Amino acid sequence: MSRVYNFSAGPSCLPEEVLQQAAAEMLDYKGTGMSVMEMSHRSKPYQAIIDETEALARELMGIPENYKVLFLQGGASLQFAMIPQNLMVNHKRAAFMNTGAWSDKAIKEAKKFGEALVVASSKESTFNYIPEIPAIPENIDYFYICANNTIYGTKFNEFPQTGNVPLIADFSSCIMSEKVDVSKFGLIFAGAQKNLGPAGVCLVIIRDDLVGKAPESTPTMMNYQTHVDNGSMFNTPPTYGIYIMGLVFQWIKKNGGIEAMEKRNREKAALLYDFLDSSSMFKGTVVAKDRSLMNVPFVTGNEELDAAFIKEATAAGFVNLKGHRSVGGMRASIYNAMPTEGVRALVDFMKAFEAKNK
Ligand SMILES: *Cc1c(COP(=O)(O)O)cnc(C)c1O
Repeated sequence: MSRVYNFSAGPSCLPEEVLQQAAAEMLDYKGTGMSVMEMSHRSKPYQAIIDETEALARELMGIPENYKVLFLQGGASLQFAMIPQNLMVNHKRAAFMNTGAWSDKAIKEAKKFGEALVVASSKESTFNYIPEIPAIPENIDYFYICANNTIYGTKFNEFPQTGNVPLIADFSSCIMSEKVDVSKFGLIFAGAQKNLGPAGVCLVIIRDDLVGKAPESTPTMMNYQTHVDNGSMFNTPPTYGIYIMGLVFQWIKKNGGIEAMEKRNREKAALLYDFLDSSSMFKGTVVAKDRSLMNVPFVTGNEELDAAFIKEATAAGFVNLKGHRSVGGMRASIYNAMPTEGVRALVDFMKAFEAKNK
């Protein structure tokens, strides 16, 4: 068996210990004689799994008691619709900062339910920076941001202060990567497949006063109230994905919690950015102050050289480094599960490639 360093933006690498534990428990989960995959979601052992997963999320993130934790399906993309359907109900208007393709998609969905005010955007420069936080408009139902922009490699270092207006944020590609004060948000959501587990689960953290606002006409499955009332088990939840998420949470806890993740993520990102800043061949594409800790896009400025680099890197066991088609070049996604050694080895490989191709 040989494992590669997988820099995929998502689905992305998982901690090896988690995969090993899942493998060890595959045929017989804790003496039940069956895999978690084969287990009724109404069974006692499964209820214990989902309860523990929620408890660990609360503990790790310090989620206040007046917030509900939900495990939903439909990915982060379904939240683009569920959020306006449930929450764009009073003023029928919400404000958005457009910082990339994912906020753009959220804006498009919101327009199906009401008025989506785009109050800031960095579209004119291929989203390579985070715009200054604008004034919070009057008479809006919520203010929306994408906390980390997976494709462009930018992140918010300061969040908008929205007062009484609920702040809603897509944390798909940075959840649990650094400490965040949940109480500043009305709703946080994250598709699991970047930092939390396999595709198929979306973690939603919602302040309880935002539950129960959906209009009568809202389909049952689209209403947050349904999932709150049923402990995320109105229908069969993505049982195996929630179990793996629980193992990832145990791994984070064992490794020092989110503070330790943040420290390691800052070290990993610094290794890569320091090299990019010193290299005469490779350049980061993002304004330095807004650089993501999770997704690091870079280019050589020469498409043929980019292609040669990606090819040689792949052969050397550094895979999925090709940048998103809208940015080109390369992107290294270095989520929680990417070990520091992986980033160090990549930087060494880049140095050698640069020396060889001077
Ligand atoms: C990947 C990603 C999404 C889309 O997630 P799906 O689960 O595929 O719908 C949305 N937002 C951000 C920031 C992402 O990185």
